[in-house]
Amino acid sequence: ALGNPLRPLLLAAGRSTLLRRVVTALPVTRSVVRRYVPGEGQDAVVDATRDILASGRAISIDHLGEDTSDPAQAEATVQAYLALLAAFGRLDVPAGLPVPALEVSLKLSALGQFLPQDGHAVALANARRICSAAEAVGAWVNVDAEDHTTTDSTLSIVRELRADHPSVATVLQAYLRRTEDDCRTLAGEGSRIRLCKGAYAEPADVAFQRSEEVDDSYRRCLEVLFTGDGYPMVASHDPAMIDAAHDLARRTGRADDSYEFQMLYGIRDDEQRRLAADGHTVRVYTPYGDEWYGYFMRRLAERPANLLFFLRSLVPS
Ligand code: FAD
Repeated sequence: ALGNPLRPLLLAAGRSTLLRRVVTALPVTRSVVRRYVPGEGQDAVVDATRDILASGRAISIDHLGEDTSDPAQAEATVQAYLALLAAFGRLDVPAGLPVPALEVSLKLSALGQFLPQDGHAVALANARRICSAAEAVGAWVNVDAEDHTTTDSTLSIVRELRADHPSVATVLQAYLRRTEDDCRTLAGEGSRIRLCKGAYAEPADVAFQRSEEVDDSYRRCLEVLFTGDGYPMVASHDPAMIDAAHDLARRTGRADDSYEFQMLYGIRDDEQRRLAADGHTVRVYTPYGDEWYGYFMRRLAERPANLLFFLRSLVPS
């Protein structure tokens, strides 16, 4: 939660190259990371996908990696997604699962958005290749939200992508002051919006700082999305936000298949299964790959209990 006093420190540590080297070299780190990341290779994430689908949940897979300044790295990311989507095409999706059960989540910065030369055009072209491959196997695509300096560029690329691939979804972060307006703009028919609280360290002029303010903003944004004509995706582990979504679904008379819940791989797994058993669509955001350091540090920053678990595992018993 935002109230965690260590949050800014851990988020800063998540951007440190030196700490990345130290933390990733610790042998125990990997076993803790496995709670949140099923593996580094494609086989591991395909196995995890089979298990998640068999449990009646949908999945969104993120190939880990962010903010590259190297075109070859961006191309490697595209190739990883294309290979993953080819593997999706060979998967037997159990009958009875809701909507497209398979989705990939992309970070535009990993596709070249901030390359010094033509970043916008490169990321757009790369994302288009992934969208076409996803369409060919009946999978959905979601464009993740990164820090606030990327929001305008990301929303403009998403707009361009949706002209050819109308099912492309994106993410809005309730901690940003602009987000309620963005929800209004984007809640139209056919849109798919994932609403999350937001995972980056952001300054007070653009983002709410107190967790109560973020929660209030989340509730207001949910209301805009649920009363709109799109497909809201409620991405939170917070019981209060999940209750707010249940209330809104009742008040607006939404059918169970007109919105979904989303949670991260390894977090509140019992609650995910309970919601799915109750007839709700639940999608598990599942990251894989060797660039797990930044993602892992954001998870530690979110919850003191996650950090304590990690620190305890460093002490030999
Ligand atoms: P928090 O405020 O972290 O937690 C609130 C309450 O939830 C806790 O008090 C506790 O009751 C419960 N809870 C939380 N974690 C646990 C746990 N491990 N076990 C038991 N209870 C727990 N962020 C972005 O910036 N961009 C993105 O594109 C993005 N995509 C996301 C996709 C999904 C599917 C999800 C779930 C999150 C995504 N996020 C993204 C991260 C998000 O912004 C938050 O940082 C993260 O989800 C933590 O916020 P929270 O809503 O879960 O609640």
